[in-house]
Amino acid sequence: MRYLSTRGEAAERDFSGVLLTGLAEDGGLWQPAAWPRLDEAARAPGAGYAARAFAVTRPFVAGGLEAEDWRALLAGVYAGFRHPATAPLVQLDTNLWLMELFHGPTFAFKDLAMQALGRLFDLVLKARSERITIIGATSGDTGAAAVEAVRGLETIDLVMLYPHGRISDVQRRQMTTVEEPNIHTVALEGTFDDCQDLVKALFADTRLREEWRFAAVNSINWARVMVQTVYYVHAAVQLGGGPVAFSVPSGNFGNVYAGCAAREMGLDAPRFIVGSNSNDILARFFEAGDMSTRPVTPSWSPSMDIQVSSNFERLLHDLLERDGPAVARHMAAFRQSGRLPLDEARWQAARRLFRGHAVDDEDTLAEIARTHAATGMTVDPHTAVGVAAARALRDPAMPTVALATAHPAKFPDAVERAIGRRPPLPDALAAQAERPERAARMANDLGLLKTFIRERVRRP
Ligand SMILES: *Cc1c(COP(=O)(O)O)cnc(C)c1O
Repeated sequence: MRYLSTRGEAAERDFSGVLLTGLAEDGGLWQPAAWPRLDEAARAPGAGYAARAFAVTRPFVAGGLEAEDWRALLAGVYAGFRHPATAPLVQLDTNLWLMELFHGPTFAFKDLAMQALGRLFDLVLKARSERITIIGATSGDTGAAAVEAVRGLETIDLVMLYPHGRISDVQRRQMTTVEEPNIHTVALEGTFDDCQDLVKALFADTRLREEWRFAAVNSINWARVMVQTVYYVHAAVQLGGGPVAFSVPSGNFGNVYAGCAAREMGLDAPRFIVGSNSNDILARFFEAGDMSTRPVTPSWSPSMDIQVSSNFERLLHDLLERDGPAVARHMAAFRQSGRLPLDEARWQAARRLFRGHAVDDEDTLAEIARTHAATGMTVDPHTAVGVAAARALRDPAMPTVALATAHPAKFPDAVERAIGRRPPLPDALAAQAERPERAARMANDLGLLKTFIRERVRRP
């Protein structure tokens, strides 16, 4: 499989090149040059999750990885999940299901892809006898998933910045109680945006970047989107193979775009419902054609507190019929004016597949309470946004699957407000609370961070 950049200027690459670069040289995102079709094995009714994952994703890695290496890698990843079905479906209402994507080591859906990404990096780097330093900033879930995915790997050191005092206790402990020496957690005295600015500034230091071989694992990496296509196929096959709608609580648009990719591969998925919190740029776009940025406001679903959805460029590329220079022009105009100029016909094309619905904090808590009263199940606030959006927009005659993206115990304060008590803490999270924490507390200063890297991070 060859990959091309959404902006059309970068030379095509194979899978391992796409994996290691993340972003294309022209600033675009990597997309497969052609969509493979789901074959019989990918649609096999009885397949387990890991077998399905191999069958669905195999064409994407062809030419970059040995098939048997990829099969074994996926089997190892999903054997580490706490639920034997990996991503079980549970029924919420007539024709409405939840797909639980939170049974991985950090209790959020990001594990499904990040666990595979860590091992993929390791596989490719070992084959090349190379090492890298992964640098990232997190507002919670991504950092925990990345730490868990690469801890103990010989080929990777990880530097993860988080805003001191601004993430939940559970999220912090998931990063700071890890003992492996290749993990370097930095508690920055600043906001999430300060963390991101420092990471960007690090990447801009060409000499340091090359000496320490900086890489990123953020959600624009194609390998993450690719691995996320699997659960859409898995859900639809288990519901009988007919048309299925999906409701997806969205931030960076990586998760829901993976569903769109599965549809390009032949999945009968006629409708995607995009759930937003009060940071509703995606809902405004799909409902009113207005994609314009506003200041980010904190919400009960912090992993969706985003105003620029970086994976949206993949959909834009599709809507503009893969015209790279047109994508580049649209993105430049968006960056400059804060508003995406898209013509009516293309917006209508997007509307045929997507609908958007925004759910504010009050309605998020109301949905947690409602689901709990009706079914006895407790959903986390991100999941509640998706369920509320599904209730608002679904076609009752078509099965709808709402993706459950985090375990409720990760967000106990919101749950307590909604239903009057905290969700029980799973053993793995309770054990974390007993362990010593380790993080480098640091002032918001690029010089300090560079010194930290030179002194503490193993040089590749
Ligand atoms: C990251 C995240 C999301 C948003 O997913 P995107 O791919 O960024 O749209 C939703 N819920 C949870 C719990 C998350 O961690």
